[in-house]
Amino acid sequence: METLEKTNYKTLVNSQLEYFNSNITKDVNFRIVQLKKFRDVLKSNETLLDKAIYDDFKKSSFENYATELSIIYHEINLAIKKLKKWSKRKRVGTNMANLPGKSYIIPEPLGVTLTIGAWNYPYHLSLAPVIPALAAGNTAIIKPSELALNSSHAMAKIINENFDAKYFHVVEGGVEETKSLLKEKFDKIFYTGSSKVGKIIMKTASENLTPVTLELGGKSPCFVFNDANLKISAQRIVWAKFLNGGQTCVAPDYILAEKGIKEKLIAEIKNQIVAILGDDPKNSESFVRIISLHHYNRILQLVDFDKIIIGGKTDEDALYIEPTVMDNVSFDDAIMQDEIFGPILPIVEFENLDQTIKIIKDREKPLALYVFTSNKKNSKKILHEISFGGGAVNEAVMHLANSNLPFGGVGYSGMGSYHGKAGFDCFTHYKSILDKSTMIEPPIKYAPYLDWKRKLLQKLLE
Ligand code: NAD
Repeated sequence: METLEKTNYKTLVNSQLEYFNSNITKDVNFRIVQLKKFRDVLKSNETLLDKAIYDDFKKSSFENYATELSIIYHEINLAIKKLKKWSKRKRVGTNMANLPGKSYIIPEPLGVTLTIGAWNYPYHLSLAPVIPALAAGNTAIIKPSELALNSSHAMAKIINENFDAKYFHVVEGGVEETKSLLKEKFDKIFYTGSSKVGKIIMKTASENLTPVTLELGGKSPCFVFNDANLKISAQRIVWAKFLNGGQTCVAPDYILAEKGIKEKLIAEIKNQIVAILGDDPKNSESFVRIISLHHYNRILQLVDFDKIIIGGKTDEDALYIEPTVMDNVSFDDAIMQDEIFGPILPIVEFENLDQTIKIIKDREKPLALYVFTSNKKNSKKILHEISFGGGAVNEAVMHLANSNLPFGGVGYSGMGSYHGKAGFDCFTHYKSILDKSTMIEPPIKYAPYLDWKRKLLQKLLE
């Protein structure tokens, strides 16, 4: 896709740098006005945003509100409310060696920021990171994913028509445009997408020593123990797995069912799929389609059709894959090698918890992990022993809706985090200042380095 901006990326980035250097964005009141304007622009364009995302992958207006817009509004409202507090300089204690003097930390914006979004929650993943970016006093450029093209157009239209490009701008395009954009020097890059591309982003950013936040993916396990509340567990897992057609970075990728519960769990999952999406999910207004033919084929290549016990119907023209459950799956199956990112739920039975934990730990660190149990010992052990981005006990996916919980991965599932105050921190440099009095100047740090000075230093510094 050839875009006008492509030839002008340098001009765009330079204009943002110039604007940032004018110090206008450092004014907290200015930032609050811009955030309010951003909220108004989104509110008054909800119909456009709804239509675009529906055209991309049949996402309903309800789901668009519940999983995209409401989170964005909440982040804006929170930032408006807390901004003055977050951006205040903070006084901290001063050590003996620096008395008389005072010490404080000044939160300062980083400068020109680039947010590269993924397609699966096109608004949420492109817009939620720029809220803290703007709140912290940066300028912002967004490059939404080209796969959710209508949503990308909608964001470009409403943001570029309402904000000055030198402050906040959307650049559209695909891989080539992203690559060209990455040649420019940014003060922060915030990337959401696959671990494979995450590596490219980090490597490119290293040319300018640009700090990166990487929100990546991975296989998120979901333990279900014998003592779990079966109905509620199945209901929550079915919702979390098939939400957005399974195209959710923190969806339970697969179930680890403790020996003894599997058959009952499968029966309950079946009930819940019908209860939530009806007898034929294809007719449900609430079931999202696969984003592209490439992803449709990628998902189906992972499936062993002999192991399907629920669902399995597909329609290539409609990019439809029925909510599908696979049984008798082992860690060696194709479906267990890569993140599924689609509506397929494999069930692996386990008997030995320690062995199962070891298998997970031998793989890349997951973005999320869920434990369904009524025994705190089980959840404590798992939370203690396995490293993963974040997760929930007796719930799935919902942890990301709590802005008090920093959201992000670890290792292959990402680095850095955002949401709430963590987002503000992500786009802020904390500048440490020692402000010293000139009333006295003790001779202790100066040569000659006498014995008594060393002894005194020991007292003051250790
Ligand atoms: P995608 O294809 O939309 O790519 C994301 C962005 O990377 C796009 O803007 C795209 O233009 C850009 N891109 C793609 N190839 C590139 C290249 N070679 N060089 C530079 N830029 C390039 O999204 P995706 O990669 O299919 O995303 C799916 C993955 O993202 C899954 O693994 C999922 O788990 C993960 N994800 C993570 C989160 C999170 O918050 N941690 C959220 C959503 C998705």
